[in-house]
Amino acid sequence: MVKRVHNFCAGPCTLPLSVLKDVQQEFVDFHNAGMSLIEMSHRSKEYDAVHMEAMRLARETFGAPDDFEVLFIQGGATLQFAMVPMNLLKPGQKAGYVNSGSWATGALRDGAHYGELYTAWDGAGEDYMRMPAPAEIALQNDTRYLHVTSNETIGGIRITEWPDLGVPLVADVSSEFMARPIPWKLFDLVYGGIQKNLGPAGMAVVFVRKGALTDANQSIANYLRYDVHADKQSLFNTPPMFAIYMLGKVLAWMQDRGGLAVIEQDAADKAGMLYGVIDASDGFYRCPVNEQNRSHMNVVFRLPDEDLEARFLKEAASADMVNLKGHRSVGGCRASIYNAMPKESVGVLADFMRQFAKQNG
Ligand SMILES: *Cc1c(COP(=O)(O)O)cnc(C)c1O
Repeated sequence: MVKRVHNFCAGPCTLPLSVLKDVQQEFVDFHNAGMSLIEMSHRSKEYDAVHMEAMRLARETFGAPDDFEVLFIQGGATLQFAMVPMNLLKPGQKAGYVNSGSWATGALRDGAHYGELYTAWDGAGEDYMRMPAPAEIALQNDTRYLHVTSNETIGGIRITEWPDLGVPLVADVSSEFMARPIPWKLFDLVYGGIQKNLGPAGMAVVFVRKGALTDANQSIANYLRYDVHADKQSLFNTPPMFAIYMLGKVLAWMQDRGGLAVIEQDAADKAGMLYGVIDASDGFYRCPVNEQNRSHMNVVFRLPDEDLEARFLKEAASADMVNLKGHRSVGGCRASIYNAMPKESVGVLADFMRQFAKQNG
């Protein structure tokens, strides 16, 4: 028997056990090729089939329309902070950013090297405890796109209402990638690292509207050009073959479970189990964020004091519930419950939380 703990890590994170076993089984000798997939040429017919299937499944699972390109790009979501303005902003144009927390701040800081960016709404004054209502977002003239972070992984908040303000949206969806549907007509680009909901670390998947690429900036290195990746179907250079292969497996697993609608409902149910315990705890647990914006992926909560938090984490770990510590920048506790987190594991945590409150409240 393999030992598996309840792993609430914020990323990389738990993956479906069936996928891990499947990959293990075919890892050394891929489909009787006598070699591993990661030892093959990325131009081989075996790899090509894996690559194209992952791309097809990414489009299908997320419901991306035909006028969007699906791109596999290394460098994680972080490289996209720079690539988005590099590719999309022309001289004289600006981009607005909703600053909703740590990751939005990162996108704004990196992107500002490559174009004129401004903060269209800033949550810093309220400790990033909520997302803005669309009407609060202040757009300036000549705004090419509005960048939003759909789920702040550290703060534990999510956008509930997408801003439909007449300017195309660009979203970093890393920490709720394919956990909710996207209203594509509002978007020019959607990106995320795959290591939170969809696979191992090593790449981002970018969905970009074809029309946004026709006059994209071409005065940058080839690897940084979306149009180059699109022309070559993400085989411009050696792609991160293992990550793409794993992505395809996880997407097939999602499809088997019923696809995005089922995954979205599961996410709401799992999050509801934990928020339910918090709300019923008579103030023993406290979720610091605005109730409307509570994340379905990263459930953040505090206990009455830091000593109790330390004890909570220690006792949880001895019961095989690991990685529940909040990000070092904010403290407290955080349960990350991405797509592959089984409902049973969330149930185990909910029971533990109830028990711990009873004993220590
Ligand atoms: C994790 C995360 C990132 C950074 O992703 P990398 O793939 O490590 O670059 C960016 N944005 C959000 C919202 C994240 O959760």
